[in-house]
Amino acid sequence: MNSISFIPGMRQEDLASIIRHFNIVDIYELKKLAREKKIRKLKGFNSKTEMALLRGIKLLESKPGSMPIGIAFDFAAILINQLKAWPQICQVLLVGELRRGVEEVRSIELLVDANIEETIEVINQISLVFIDSIEDAKIKLGTPLGIPLLLHFSSTKSWGNNSILTTGSSKHLQALSSINEGLPVFPEENEVYKYLGLPWIPPEIRETGFEIQIAQENLLPKLIDLKDIKGDLHLHSKWSDGSNTIEEIINKGIKLGYDYITITDHSQSLEIAGGLKSQDLLQQIVEINNLQLRFPQIQILKGAEVDILPDGSLDFTDDILKKLDIVIASVHSHFHMKEIEMTRRITTALKHPLVKILAHPTGRVLGKRPGYNVDIKEIIKTAASNNKILEVNASPDRLDLRDEHLQYAKTQSVKIAINTDAHHIDRMHDMYFGVQTAKRGWQTNEDIVNSWCYEKLKQYLLNI
Ligand SMILES: [Zn+2]
Ligand SMILES: [Zn+2]
Repeated sequence: MNSISFIPGMRQEDLASIIRHFNIVDIYELKKLAREKKIRKLKGFNSKTEMALLRGIKLLESKPGSMPIGIAFDFAAILINQLKAWPQICQVLLVGELRRGVEEVRSIELLVDANIEETIEVINQISLVFIDSIEDAKIKLGTPLGIPLLLHFSSTKSWGNNSILTTGSSKHLQALSSINEGLPVFPEENEVYKYLGLPWIPPEIRETGFEIQIAQENLLPKLIDLKDIKGDLHLHSKWSDGSNTIEEIINKGIKLGYDYITITDHSQSLEIAGGLKSQDLLQQIVEINNLQLRFPQIQILKGAEVDILPDGSLDFTDDILKKLDIVIASVHSHFHMKEIEMTRRITTALKHPLVKILAHPTGRVLGKRPGYNVDIKEIIKTAASNNKILEVNASPDRLDLRDEHLQYAKTQSVKIAINTDAHHIDRMHDMYFGVQTAKRGWQTNEDIVNSWCYEKLKQYLLNI
């Protein structure tokens, strides 16, 4: 197998063009090129490409037995497309941990409706994977990610029960088997649940078995869904470290069917990310006002992602912040504070009357660093008592707040925004992962402010 067939975080066509241009054969040469800053000289690439490459290679080399969801998902999507291209494969479904939205997965699992012998022939034509072992109705494949890819097989007739079985979790299945030993055979999942006297249960909450009890009591809430999302409140443009103009972001927002977006570039002290000086921000406001006249079909909110300084104060003066529709506060520096100090720093910022949203509240980056030391319950309580909004950062590198924090936030009636924090318009599609995480936290439309219509959101923001 070609050892540089896949690098996490890199687009396949970009990787192929780098390999072609430099005529390289292994990952060490690729790493050397990135370190020597040679890739940025190629048209269409820059220093960010090199950073993404090095991070991807580091992830591959670390082989920790699990992979952040975004990377595993990208790989699964490529495989699914390749499999679907063959007429022998009737149906492919993402199952297992990825379907449930688990943030770091130990394997990629697919359910396939096809003949196993014919599928083996197909697999032998796909260069990204190799066959590790074959059991009755399962093929285990090796991948460049260092985690296995499991192919499960099912006929159309038993697709419903098999997709439940292969999606898991084991505790969910255990709870189901306490109702009825062995799942009944049906082509659709909802028919299986119906037979057991249950409504269809979203995969993201098939975790502890508790969801079955709630479903039996007919108390399962209608969870937030991707199609309910009406806007993205945390987006970076070229003004700071984003890749796109505000106009490009607006057009993408319109394409996604959004009613509103917020431009939230970094503040002045974050020089490494092109943080805006006060004057720049004032100029940006003028630009947004002009763009709003040209794009009346979408509301363009003026915002900023303002650094929370070590003492809990904000990186712009109140005079500047007052001019914005949405002030997002977040920590980007001095990560190594004691828990009590970090908690005080963040709660001080949250209490600031002009702050509306706290972004990526624990600061973790999957596969890279755990969050900073912070008492997250205290943060959630402070948000509750000050009516502030907490973020689910939908970037699959972050997914922060995470599921258990969201469940606690719900008990405190804290409102949540699911934001992509996109630095490139392509990443505005990461909303999918944020919604999955929100589902895992049992969030509904009522909890998620960016599922509300613009008028309701505006009123809520004004009253914070
Ligand atoms: Zn940030
Ligand atoms: Zn951001």
